[in-house]
Amino acid sequence: MLRIGCHLSTSKGYAHMAEEILSLGGNTFQFFTRNPRGGSAKPIDEKDINRFKEICNENGIGIILAHAPYTLNAASADERTREFAKETMADDLNRMEYTPGNLYNFHPGSHVGQGVEVGIQYIISMLNEVIKPEQTTTVLLETMAGKGSEIGRTFEELKEIMDGVTLKDHLGVCLDTCHVYDAGYDIVGNLDGVLEEFDRVIGLKNLKAVHLNDSKNPFESHKDRHEKIGEGSIGIEAMERIINHPKLRSLPFYLETPNELEGYAKEIDWLKSLYREA
Ligand code: FE
Ligand code: FE
Ligand code: ZN
Repeated sequence: MLRIGCHLSTSKGYAHMAEEILSLGGNTFQFFTRNPRGGSAKPIDEKDINRFKEICNENGIGIILAHAPYTLNAASADERTREFAKETMADDLNRMEYTPGNLYNFHPGSHVGQGVEVGIQYIISMLNEVIKPEQTTTVLLETMAGKGSEIGRTFEELKEIMDGVTLKDHLGVCLDTCHVYDAGYDIVGNLDGVLEEFDRVIGLKNLKAVHLNDSKNPFESHKDRHEKIGEGSIGIEAMERIINHPKLRSLPFYLETPNELEGYAKEIDWLKSLYREA
C-alpha cells in the first residue's frame, strides 16, 4: 500500500486534518507546527487529539510529519535567532509527544556567510540540546536545494550534522525530490546511483520520509521552486520510478506541490494508480 498524503493547513486542528486527508484519498499528511513564519503555536486541545487518534486508528492513517517553521535558522550568525530556533524546536518536540511516534522535519539552516563548518556546528549544538532520550519523535533533516547559503545541499553535510548528534536514534533524513534534483543529484537519469550514494554517505536506514515535488527549474539550478507532479523538470516517469523503487516504496510520501485541495486529491489519485502493489 502506498503511504501518501500532502501538506495540510493546521488551523482547524488535528481531527480536521485527519478527516481532510481521508477526503483527499490519502493516508498520511504533513502540517506546520505553527505559522510557517514563526510565532506561537496554538495550545494543544486534548479532546481534539483524542478524536484525531480515533480517526487515525479507524482509517489507517499513519506516520504523520510535522514541519518546523521554515524561517527557523539554527545556523544563524545572530545569537537570538539561534536561540529562537532552539526554543521553537524544543516546544514543538514537547507538543509532538501528544501524538507519539511520528516525524518532525526541519531545514538545517543557512550559514549566512560564516561558512558551512560554523553553521554545521551550531546545528549540532542545537540538536544536542533539544533532542531528549525519552522522546518518541524522530527529527528529520531535510535535503536542501542549496539556495543562497543553505546547509544540507549535499549528503555529506547532512552526514556531518548526524555524526555530531549524540542521540542518533532520534534522527533521520527527509529526502525532497525537488530539492535534491535542484542540488545536483540526478534522480531522473540515475535514481539507483543517487540512492547508492545516499546509502554510502548517510545510510538508507536513516531515510525516513520523502517530499514528493516536481521542480519548476532544470537540474542543478539551486532554486527550490516546487511544481505540480508531472508538470516540471522531473516528470511523471521519474515519479513513478521513485514511488515504486524497492528502497523507497515503503516510505511515507508527502506532496508539497503548488495545489489547492482538489489538485492534491488528483495527484494522490494519480500516484496511487501508478503504484504497483507488491
Ligand atoms: Fe521543507
Ligand atoms: Fe520539502
Ligand atoms: Zn522546497
